[in-house]
Amino acid sequence: MIQKRFLCRDLQAAESALEQIRDIISQTRHKSALVTFYETGFSGGEIGSLLSRMKSWEFPKLQTAGISLTVIAELMPEGAGLLLNLILTEEADIEVVKIPCLPGMESEAVEKLRNRLYAHENVRAVEFFCSNMKLRITSFMEKSMEGHEDAVLFGTATTKNLLQKISVEAEENIVEKVSQDQVREEFVAGDELIPDGFVAVIFAGEKLKVQAKYALGWKPIGRSFSTESSNVTPLGETIVTTINDLPAVDIYREYLGVYPDSYFISNICEFPFVVEREGFNTCLIPLDMDKNGELYFMMSLRPGEKLRFSFASHDEVLGASRESLESMESFGPEALFLTLCGNRLNFLKEDAHIEWDSFADVAPDYVLMHGAGELFYHNKKGGILNSAHLAIGLREGEASENKAAYEHPSVKSLRRGRTLSLSDRMSTFLDKITSELIATATQAQEANRAKSVFLSHMSHEIRTPINAILGMDEMILKECREKDILEYAHSIRSAGNNLLGIVNDILDFSKIEAGKMSIVPVEYELMSVVRDMHDVVRLRAEDKGLTVKLDIDRELPALLFGDAARLKQVITNILTNAVKYTETGTVTFIIKKISDGTDSDLEELRMACPGEPRLTAQYRPIRIGVTVRDTGIGIKPDDMKRLFEEYERFDEKKNLNIEGTGLGLSITKELLELMGSRLTVSSTYGEGSEFGFEIVQGVVGSETIGDVKVGLKKPAGQKKHVNFTAEDARILVVDDTEINLRVVKQLLKRIRINIDTALSGKEALALVQENAYDIIFLDHLMPEMDGPETLKRMEQLKNNRSAGAPVISLTSNALPNAREEYIKIGFKDYLLKPFLPETLENMLYYYIPPEKIRTLPSED
Ligand code: ADP
Repeated sequence: MIQKRFLCRDLQAAESALEQIRDIISQTRHKSALVTFYETGFSGGEIGSLLSRMKSWEFPKLQTAGISLTVIAELMPEGAGLLLNLILTEEADIEVVKIPCLPGMESEAVEKLRNRLYAHENVRAVEFFCSNMKLRITSFMEKSMEGHEDAVLFGTATTKNLLQKISVEAEENIVEKVSQDQVREEFVAGDELIPDGFVAVIFAGEKLKVQAKYALGWKPIGRSFSTESSNVTPLGETIVTTINDLPAVDIYREYLGVYPDSYFISNICEFPFVVEREGFNTCLIPLDMDKNGELYFMMSLRPGEKLRFSFASHDEVLGASRESLESMESFGPEALFLTLCGNRLNFLKEDAHIEWDSFADVAPDYVLMHGAGELFYHNKKGGILNSAHLAIGLREGEASENKAAYEHPSVKSLRRGRTLSLSDRMSTFLDKITSELIATATQAQEANRAKSVFLSHMSHEIRTPINAILGMDEMILKECREKDILEYAHSIRSAGNNLLGIVNDILDFSKIEAGKMSIVPVEYELMSVVRDMHDVVRLRAEDKGLTVKLDIDRELPALLFGDAARLKQVITNILTNAVKYTETGTVTFIIKKISDGTDSDLEELRMACPGEPRLTAQYRPIRIGVTVRDTGIGIKPDDMKRLFEEYERFDEKKNLNIEGTGLGLSITKELLELMGSRLTVSSTYGEGSEFGFEIVQGVVGSETIGDVKVGLKKPAGQKKHVNFTAEDARILVVDDTEINLRVVKQLLKRIRINIDTALSGKEALALVQENAYDIIFLDHLMPEMDGPETLKRMEQLKNNRSAGAPVISLTSNALPNAREEYIKIGFKDYLLKPFLPETLENMLYYYIPPEKIRTLPSED
């Protein structure tokens, strides 16, 4: 491979360069030939005349590409210039793909490049140009390189549509020196000038080798900031609207004391933002900002991605380039491309030339690109980069002899000892402090994680004995006729259920902390929610002499689509709180329609229920408002701020005798956020509180809920409990806790079913070879062989007399999508411990073959 470059300051020089290029091509045997135009400040007519000159040449393998750049660094400070780069290959193929494209048409453009990439074997590198900053460049790179992840894409964008550059310190800023009219708006592809789109130069060949070096030098410092961004950008790929919940631009004021004035860029260039993505740090410098303090970035920031400030000294930035240089030295490129960011040069000032000068020793005819943003994508990493240094080397032959390692004078002097600059010392200092803080934070996170794991194990462990207690208690309630004992048993049931509630809260909370909580939408009757909620508070309120008022809009739809279980959980929390923290007066429960759905509501619903394809097709969205108002003790203004913090409880003295963990509201808040909603609170201390939220649900059908008083009276749609016996059926129950086996036996006494029990998976395997069971209940967590493992072995048994019988998992793990998970591994269903006798009976009724069931008249 041969690379030759020609720097031309005017048209005449360019014409004579073309003559030389023609001579070289005609005298050199080659497989492919490429001439690339990197230009600053030439007119369209001038480039056109050069292109038409080349048209008359008769080189069938010659291709042309090119791009308008903001600067060709070597030609500075004059500005205008043209760098012509000639590449001739021995064996490698080169193809220039021109892809005119307007914003919005990127998908078709992707197809075009993908097809061309797949037409080659051994694609190693793609030099890539883009014109028009409204194009979705990142997703174009990601999608078109799918399947070619090991090939390196590199290049830059022109500055077309860079509407209004941020004002910068006039004397010192390179970007400022290139005024809008100097930047040409087209770029070259083949023999044409194209205004908008992409140009890709594909390099492919079996023997072709590529070395790609990405150098930065800036290191993240301090904490990370949350961001909110919008994708609808007039420029670049991301508008960051808020950083750390402030208008984005204010972060510079808060942390650096920098105001958005004409010195803005100069003042922030040492501190680019950095986003850390899978070990790949990318710097971001805003391209522009607007009146609202929103910042425009070239790069696409993913939703929820966090930013940190970064910091570097000259030596660190140059040190990173030096590493890149050393790696190129050992690679020995035959062609070399450097892509440099303006911010780097801006920052390095008089040292800037070191970034490229020393590469002349490695590849004297290297190309230097300096456009708007460095484009880089390799092994699924990269994007539009800022502050970066990219070096891409290509070679067909073997590596040439290593040259002596380069040493930058300031790096050299660093070793010898000298007065270190303030920024060098600051950098080391900040680096050390940041790493110490990170270590502390990591430790805290680790402890918190351990706490979550512990809580989740604990609550899980507690559920198992509660199961036994409540099960046995159920037996007492069923069989005992003595009044006193029945009263005790009722108290056990009530306290047991309370305990279960607390344990469930802790489990939910640790699940939320671990990010494992998900939303499972279903179709549900709104009336059943109202009825259940009414049941929850009625008795407790009556006990305290409180009035419960329902205010349910009769025009609300009867059937809705959403996560009914989580919705009930949320309302239960705020309703029980209202009753708990109210001594006299009224608790009012209100559900109202806020509005019909809009497109954005629909979007919210879709986001709340990911992976729910039916959403758009069948349901209209509706925004409903739920409010719970009480005349209770109220909350002090100071306490309001801490309301959602876990384990926080207020007025401890006053509330001493009120049960609670302080987890309810933080769970409520998190659950609502998962469903795309937000809890609002208003309260007057001593007078009462109002908790509420608005939520988008899907509407099913056109029926309305009607009068709530009528609805409360008829428990429609409730599953009837069937009274039956199954004397001919035989089931196997496997659990390593003996008391659980006894509970099941006792609970099922009434239906006279035959029950075998086993204390381990091993015992169960023996039993299924002896007997044909109608159903097998398998505990999940057992020592030695757990439920899933036992099931697997059961299925492999040759002599399984119970093969084909439904196997049901017994679990105390209330996973959100437990059913799907268990079915996936081969269970027919699952039963959550502790279970009510009715649930167990209903399950048997469903799974036992009908001929073995004798239905009795209902007890009701
Ligand atoms: P708890 O289990 O203590 O009720 P929550 O997280 O549900 O925990 O509530 C946290 C705290 O907020 C409560 O301890 C109480 O001080 C206050 N609080 C919640 N709801 C109300 C209400 N309706 N009226 C007054 N105070 C309330």
